[in-house]
Amino acid sequence: MNNQNELLYPSSISKPSNLTEHSESLSLSNFVYNHMNDVIKALAELKTDDSELKDISIRGRVCNLKEVEKVLHDIQKNTIYKSNITAKFDVAGRRPSFNPPEVVFLPRLRLEISPQSEAQNDIGTAYYDKENDRYIVKAVCKFHHEFNHEISVDGQVKCIILNGSSEVQAFDFSIGQFDVGVGEDKIIEIFAFVDKGSQAFQLLDEYTPLNFDFIFSSSDRPVRGSNTWMAMGKIDLSLNFIGNYSYDEQVQIQSIMNNEVSSIFNQQGLLIGDTMRNSLLPTDMNYSNFKDISFNDNGLSTEANQLRSNWPGLSNYLDIFFVESFSSVQNPAIAIGKDSGFSPIDGPTAKNSGDSGVIIEGKNAQFELLSSDSVRLVFGVYIAHFVGHFLGLQECPGDMGCSDSPLNFMKPPPTTYTPFGYILNRQFTRLQFLKVAEHGFIKKVLISDI
Ligand SMILES: [Zn+2]
Repeated sequence: MNNQNELLYPSSISKPSNLTEHSESLSLSNFVYNHMNDVIKALAELKTDDSELKDISIRGRVCNLKEVEKVLHDIQKNTIYKSNITAKFDVAGRRPSFNPPEVVFLPRLRLEISPQSEAQNDIGTAYYDKENDRYIVKAVCKFHHEFNHEISVDGQVKCIILNGSSEVQAFDFSIGQFDVGVGEDKIIEIFAFVDKGSQAFQLLDEYTPLNFDFIFSSSDRPVRGSNTWMAMGKIDLSLNFIGNYSYDEQVQIQSIMNNEVSSIFNQQGLLIGDTMRNSLLPTDMNYSNFKDISFNDNGLSTEANQLRSNWPGLSNYLDIFFVESFSSVQNPAIAIGKDSGFSPIDGPTAKNSGDSGVIIEGKNAQFELLSSDSVRLVFGVYIAHFVGHFLGLQECPGDMGCSDSPLNFMKPPPTTYTPFGYILNRQFTRLQFLKVAEHGFIKKVLISDI
């Protein structure tokens, strides 16, 4: 058989001339040589952790090793890759003890790109530059190689912007030339500007995550690295404490806003910006009026409306009033039914109105131990829930963005007596984010914010 004839010349595959960089060419040829009788069922698999490349599986007889070589060679020669490539050769029906060799290609010059700052899921913030009406993407580029001589990167950079897999924009720019020393992690920071009028600008403006590929030419080969960026929304909060909140408690609640609440909203790129603490002093004649919010039989509260009308925080900041307790003389169940807080749905950005703010029953006995992790988590979910209402979200399943998951943060919270049943309700969906982003309190994260 022709196939076997080819196999009689293992020297032709002993060290493929184009594969000088791989570390195990010898064991590969030994492998083929040693399994001449098996190889008729051989299988070669190419694995790579470079998302640009697909895993390749070449099935067939080992006469196709040339084909395997060709694929390896093409990848070596023509592909701009950023990470290791491993080729694995296997034999179908192998003995259990048989351990097929892997061929690992040593990385040449490679590049890792990370955003200068990020929300969750490693997505970087594309900052809006108000002055020039454009977005700015800041990328941290780490170059590394394992040669024993310096590599020079000439500073010609190509940037390709992709939405999913489709290219929306490409442009070139240049930075200064630099060298990457032996064993060095060379880190540089670059900026890409996305001007108004481009499709990429439009997509960023709609909070679409975009992939930015950066390709640098060098004295080795061009290297490529990429990451995802998107515009982020930001909200500033005024934390207004009415009642007996010690300085430590106020700071702890502020820290819950910046951590537990923030981590819910960060899932989709909504960031908590400034949190400002305000408090009504015990000497204020209204202190005792408003530390407890009372409801009438219909669940309405004149006190809550007066509180929101008369003590607004800064304009452009969402007011969250932390009172001590809720009560209802006629029907205590009404106060309990307030689930530790309440808020209008899609509240106003204008201040001094009866519904301009969220009200939270922060001295609820269940939330007292603010230093406990589980109290922080569950209190964070409650606060996020009422902020979600203010920013326009309905109780699930009332919105398109409510997923099937029972863990959405806009699912109705349990009553104050079983708050910990709510601790895992942290899911915030993309559709919910897009709805919230339309609210007047949500601003784009600006370049001047950093
Ligand atoms: Zn609700």
